[in-house]
Amino acid sequence: MDTERENHQPLEHSLDSLLRPKVWDEYIGQENIKKNLNILIEAARERGQMPEHVLLYGPAGLGKTTLVYIIGSVLGVPVQTASGPMIERAGDIVSLASTLESGGVLFIDEIHRLNKNIEETLYPIMESGGISIMVGKGPTARSVHINLPPIVIIAATTQVGKLSTPLRTRFSGGIMRLLPYNEEEIAHILIRSAERLDVVLENTAATALAQRSRSTPRTANYLLKRVRDYAQVHNKPSITAEVVRAALADRDIDEYGLTAEDRNVLTTIQEIFNGGPVGVQTLATTLSEDTQTVEEVYEPFLVQIGLLERTPRGRSITQKGIEYLKNKKD
Ligand code: ADP
Repeated sequence: MDTERENHQPLEHSLDSLLRPKVWDEYIGQENIKKNLNILIEAARERGQMPEHVLLYGPAGLGKTTLVYIIGSVLGVPVQTASGPMIERAGDIVSLASTLESGGVLFIDEIHRLNKNIEETLYPIMESGGISIMVGKGPTARSVHINLPPIVIIAATTQVGKLSTPLRTRFSGGIMRLLPYNEEEIAHILIRSAERLDVVLENTAATALAQRSRSTPRTANYLLKRVRDYAQVHNKPSITAEVVRAALADRDIDEYGLTAEDRNVLTTIQEIFNGGPVGVQTLATTLSEDTQTVEEVYEPFLVQIGLLERTPRGRSITQKGIEYLKNKKD
């Protein structure tokens, strides 16, 4: 094995860092959000303050984390990352905030999964930059006020509806929704990523990949890497539309970007639940998945392209979904 060469090749996960935009110019699309964030940052800078707290929401892989790091670098401050379900005690928030010694960005991902008691600890931090905690027990217990460095909290969620109103309203800098990307934007992202990965991606191939990328940059980059593997193993010097079709057919990904698992969701609703409506928990159990995976991985895109419908009584397959499955069988 050529260990010398291997040692110099980036690992798969560091490829993600290679592909992640680091500056505004590399961040494609989401023009409205970029404009509003720039105004927020610029206005705060002119006042010599940190910007107010921001909540970003939208499906996974649309670029929320990437935005947070770009904001950190524009502000010239460090970013400390935490994830809602991993914050177990009020003290965790305090220590996270205090690691940002001279101020910075505290990024709380998946904030909808934050424990309700911890949520209340966040309020004073968000409002006054300090927190009072009880120290000791019984008669000697006392409240100690801790001043924290000036931080901006940027939170991200895939499910904004699960946040309580008091928490939502404390994001005074704005609640910003990331929108699905159009095919042109995704093709643009793919072309940039191909340059970074040093592979030749023909324009028609970029379009074919963009059509199958579910309007999501993370999926686009994932598919590009898989198609690159296929081209390499089959000794193809460049990625053509034909290579895209062959590589993705091998992975059972169709022309809409739907996988065998996506089709299984639709088939299950149609065949086991007579087209629905079926409650999400029952659906998840039948699919042997957890509810969160159904809600966050499968549903958003199936709903976006009109194959699935969310109703108050549960999930139903649409007429378009029924026709899609019928065409697959023919
Ligand atoms: P999220 O936090 O919303 O799940 P990420 O910020 O982790 O999404 O984005 C996933 C990947 O997609 C990033 O690593 C980056 O390479 C790519 N990406 C996301 N948004 C953009 C964009 N607007 N322009 C270019 N690449 C992007």
